[in-house]
Amino acid sequence: MKIAKNTVVSVNYKLSDAQNNLIEEGAQPMVYLHGGYENTLPKIEEHLDGKEVGFNSTLQIEPEDAFGDYDAELVKVEERARLPEPIEVGMQFEGMADGAPDDEPVIFTVTEIADDKVVLDGNHPLAGMALRFELSVVDVRAATDEEIAHGHVHGAHGHHHGEDEGDDEGEAGDQFRSQPLH
Ligand SMILES: [Zn+2]
Repeated sequence: MKIAKNTVVSVNYKLSDAQNNLIEEGAQPMVYLHGGYENTLPKIEEHLDGKEVGFNSTLQIEPEDAFGDYDAELVKVEERARLPEPIEVGMQFEGMADGAPDDEPVIFTVTEIADDKVVLDGNHPLAGMALRFELSVVDVRAATDEEIAHGHVHGAHGHHHGEDEGDDEGEAGDQFRSQPLH
C-alpha cells in the first residue's frame, strides 16, 4: 500500500542535526495519520507521500520548515522572586510572550540562574536548527473511520481513550505527535 491521505504510517527514525550529531533515536517507530492532520512535520509527509514499506531515506529540514528560527526576543530576564522555588536550569514554565501571535502560551525554559535573576528562553529547544531525519517506512495501513474523524492514530503506539473522552492523556508516544520533537 502506498502512503496517501488517510493511511497510518509507521516509520523508524533517527534525528540528527546538520553536523550529524545525534539528537534522538526513536526507540519505537513514529506512527502517524498521513494527510495534513499535523501529526508530524509537513516536510516529512511531503517526503513520504506515495512511498511504500521499505522506503529508506535521509531528509534534511531547514529551521523555517521545522521549529523556526531562533528568536532573541523570546529570551527574557525575570526577577527570581517572581518564580517558584526551587528553581533550576532546564525547568519549564508556560507563559505569555510579549507580542506572541494569537495570545498563544509559550513554553519557557530556564537557561541561566544568577543571584536574583533568571533567564527564560521561549524558543523551542530545536529552534534555529536544521534537522536531518533518517527515515525507514515499516508499515502502511488504511486508517479507520474513527481515526480519520479524530485526526489521530488509535491502537498500538497510538492514541488511547479512556471510558470517557475527557480522560485523554495519551501515552508517551503521543508526545512525539503533538509536539513532534522533544
Ligand atoms: Zn481518538
